[in-house]
Amino acid sequence: MNIFIMTDMEGITGVDSIDNVFIESEEHYIASCRKLTDDINAAVDGYFATGAEKVYVEDGHGTGKNFLPGTLDERAILVDGINDYNRLTKSGTLTAAAMIGTHAMAGTENAFLDHTQSSKSWFDYTINGRSCGEIAQSAVFLGRYDVPVIMVSGDIAACEEGRRFLGDIATAPVKRAVGRNRAVSLDAKAARALIRQAAIDSVRLIGKIKPFKILFPAELRLVFQRTDYCESACGRPGVEKVGPRTARKCIADIDSYLDLMI
Ligand SMILES: [Zn+2]
Repeated sequence: MNIFIMTDMEGITGVDSIDNVFIESEEHYIASCRKLTDDINAAVDGYFATGAEKVYVEDGHGTGKNFLPGTLDERAILVDGINDYNRLTKSGTLTAAAMIGTHAMAGTENAFLDHTQSSKSWFDYTINGRSCGEIAQSAVFLGRYDVPVIMVSGDIAACEEGRRFLGDIATAPVKRAVGRNRAVSLDAKAARALIRQAAIDSVRLIGKIKPFKILFPAELRLVFQRTDYCESACGRPGVEKVGPRTARKCIADIDSYLDLMI
């Protein structure tokens, strides 16, 4: 059993205020980095406790350089950037994937830092007409290569979104949003126990949770926050303008996670 853990920071235990996730607010950010690997390590430990052979971890927030040296469980294999992520997803060696520290899609109420890719420029992103966030985006790419997502951790809204898209997966809701920019987390120890247990429980779902599949060719649409964001996107290959703020792209297949961007 080989598990791939994708990570983000917005849904991490104790990351409870908007200034906790930006590299510019250095002191808070460093503390968040420590919390990030604490949550991840709980999942890593859960998977090794249930007999995982290899556990891969991707650093998915912002710059992708959020792990403080020496803090990631040394049994985990670090996935190094987008090419490594693509290669691993397509390798045929992954049994399942988990998402740690996730957040809900743009426009979700009572969701901590709800957004899809860019809170500044992305307003509504759809795949074949259904509004999707980053949980579905990743699940679509993994699903194309037959890797099911079996577990999600994050705030309550992110966990609900995970189940809405992916079915009866294991979840670890470690916090509750209070409006968009604040959250209240469980006690850190309890949250990490919840994550570890969800990882353990999710292993029983292997074979039951199907990879998340979409129909191809697929139509991606993005309504931007502003017309100028749409204008610049429409210069990209295959991207067509269909409204003042709306761009669309059709894809015959997905070769890279980036194919799902507009
Ligand atoms: Zn993030």
